[in-house]
Amino acid sequence: MENFDAIIIGGGSAGLAASIALGRSRRSTLVIDANEPRNARAAHAHNVLGQEGISPLQLLDQGRNEAVHYGAQIITDHAVRIEGSSLNGFTVHTETAAYKASRIVLATGLTDQLEEIPGLREAWGISAIHCTYCHGWEVRDQSVAVLGLGPMSSHQALLFAQLSDRVTFVNHHPEHLSAENREILNKSGVVIVEGRVQQLRVDEHGQLDGIVLANGDLLESQAAVVSSRMIANSELYLQLGGTLKDHPMGTFIPVNEMGATDVPGLYATGNAANLGAMVMAAAASGTVAGAALNGDLALERLDSHSSATTA
Ligand SMILES: Cc1cc2nc3c(=O)[nH]c(=O)nc-3n(C[C@H](O)[C@H](O)[C@H](O)COP(=O)(O)OP(=O)(O)OC[C@H]3O[C@@H](n4cnc5c(N)ncnc54)[C@H](O)[C@@H]3O)c2cc1C
Repeated sequence: MENFDAIIIGGGSAGLAASIALGRSRRSTLVIDANEPRNARAAHAHNVLGQEGISPLQLLDQGRNEAVHYGAQIITDHAVRIEGSSLNGFTVHTETAAYKASRIVLATGLTDQLEEIPGLREAWGISAIHCTYCHGWEVRDQSVAVLGLGPMSSHQALLFAQLSDRVTFVNHHPEHLSAENREILNKSGVVIVEGRVQQLRVDEHGQLDGIVLANGDLLESQAAVVSSRMIANSELYLQLGGTLKDHPMGTFIPVNEMGATDVPGLYATGNAANLGAMVMAAAASGTVAGAALNGDLALERLDSHSSATTA
């Protein structure tokens, strides 16, 4: 079985950035990637310095080429099981093979759990959007309906009110809208509509043309702002005995500032460890985790060298 210095599970921005840091440090590195990045449905990635507006898939394609240039191997597969430890090495099983490594980076991203509203899945990432920094500029001055689905929905409405003066807040789950936040929305010029959303009316391209409310009214809007439950893809972390942390918006893998988890030899980076990390933050955390892992292996080699010379 091939034995690597590091296996990185997940080849999005975080995993590829880690693999470049490791490849440039001459660490043998395998990236196992199921190739389903979270932002795949978006046509453009924004707030990506130097690559503003690039297609998310093209960005990852470039990242893969850079990683391979520095010697990383990349396979398209799904890691399903992991065992072992930093003492004797880890074994990662995919659906078709097994690989060994001294250290592991989990860069598995997160799963956006969406509310069950007809039309939402079809519009997700196209005209049902979640983040001002990713899509806000593109819907400036448009009619935007923020669906009150979670605890951060009124904050989303506040941010979108900076981009358009035609923002409506649909109070779908009224328990999430406190009196204080209602007051903030009123002051920001956001119109609050009471009642539940029944359906997003979406064409075959995922483009919204209106929101049907439970009372049958049609709210005309060009974009729906939604929030998801963000659940770190953490199955492998749990298999190694890790403990997840809760967040108001979901769950994540806790790490220190270098990306090390509470399981020795196991690093986590990108959205798996930080639900709010956008592309550049995910990549930055991948670079940090790759660098920390490299330093960790360098020290381990010194330790084994000095115990061999003193023996
Ligand atoms: C619709 C949408 C639009 C967005 N637009 C922007 C934007 O414009 N600008 C911006 O900065 N951010 C944007 N984001 C956020 C961006 O998607 C994340 O910041 C980024 O994807 C995080 O990178 P990551 O590497 O942590 O995870 P991901 O990019 O999700 O990559 C994780 C990878 O790991 C793989 N994987 C998971 N589990 C396994 C496993 N067991 N075995 C093998 N592989 C596995 C997945 O298939 C995937 O390829 C957007 C998000 C969404 C949902």
